[in-house]
Amino acid sequence: MSINDEKYKAWSAQRKAHLEGLTAALLFPKIRAGDRGALASAITLIESEQAKHRKEAYILLNMCLPHSGAAWRIGITGVPGVGKSTFIEQIGKKLIEGGRRLAVMAIDPSSSVTGGSIMGDKTRMETLSMQQEVFIRPTPTGKTLGGVAEHTREAIILCEAAGYDVVLVETVGVGQSETLVHGMVDFFLLLMLSGAGDELQGIKRGIMEMADGILITKADQGNEGQAKQAKLTYQNALHLLSSNAQGWTPQVDCISSIEARGMEIPIAWWKKYFDEGTRSGYLKARRRDQDLHYFEERIQQKIAEFLATDQRIAERYQSWRNQIIAGTCSPQEAAKNLFEQILHYRGEI
Ligand code: GDP
Repeated sequence: MSINDEKYKAWSAQRKAHLEGLTAALLFPKIRAGDRGALASAITLIESEQAKHRKEAYILLNMCLPHSGAAWRIGITGVPGVGKSTFIEQIGKKLIEGGRRLAVMAIDPSSSVTGGSIMGDKTRMETLSMQQEVFIRPTPTGKTLGGVAEHTREAIILCEAAGYDVVLVETVGVGQSETLVHGMVDFFLLLMLSGAGDELQGIKRGIMEMADGILITKADQGNEGQAKQAKLTYQNALHLLSSNAQGWTPQVDCISSIEARGMEIPIAWWKKYFDEGTRSGYLKARRRDQDLHYFEERIQQKIAEFLATDQRIAERYQSWRNQIIAGTCSPQEAAKNLFEQILHYRGEI
């Protein structure tokens, strides 16, 4: 058994013990009272796949839902090393000074189950995590990204019910998780490095297209020229993309987290974005569309699971696929026939 296996076993046992006796009725008043420990336990509860925990999790979510929705939901992404955690430290400080309470969900699909993400990466955002007004949650990504997305979505609701008025969801900008996160936040912020040859940095074009704002990091004194050049490049690139349905034009600017410079810039963007979006009804519509989209995704997933769990249906499904591949049946007819067979097996026709 490797150290990682042992760590994982210990972690699982600890987590199981921790979840015993946790109920929605117990957690809800504590969450509402802003108890960070209870919020952390509640997120552990919603992350559990066990049926009895799921049941409590749904009860808890239903209790929290009427108290949710008021936060700025902001996604932050960028390649490892771009300066995400340093930025979050600084912007967090600024937000707290402005009287806000901040929750941070950090999703790192590249880290292993037994890596920092579950054990709690103590070195990241250390100062910030000491603040009373801040709640930081690393998200375990041992399972599928879909699972991560589901739990993060639910965790946002819990954080809002706990009174956090800014929820930052941080991802590493190299994978698929950005699309999932984009589907659950109001504002998507991309951090980029300046510098020759760095422009693309392995960030997919699709991610640029999702950005409501881009911050060029590490624009320290002495590096402003390069940063300004990068700003122009991104402004030009974004210019080619159209503004979103709200009429919001993605913004670009430079910051230096180390020198704590430029932190007022994204805050000004957010104020404007959320003021205008609330007034115009855009934000409400965006969230409704995100919920509907997610509902469609979930139902498709449930249907796929259902198709796979009934042996007879799974066989019929495979057989129709084979016929389509062989060109002996049209996809329309195969779909119609399979659907009738499902109803038949379920005794409905
Ligand atoms: P992450 O992987 O995106 O979370 O990046 P980190 O926040 O851990 O930063 C990566 C490295 O860049 C660290 O050594 C930071 O100290 C450094 N860094 C972050 N922000 C700045 C900045 O504004 N200026 C400079 N010079 N370095 C920075």
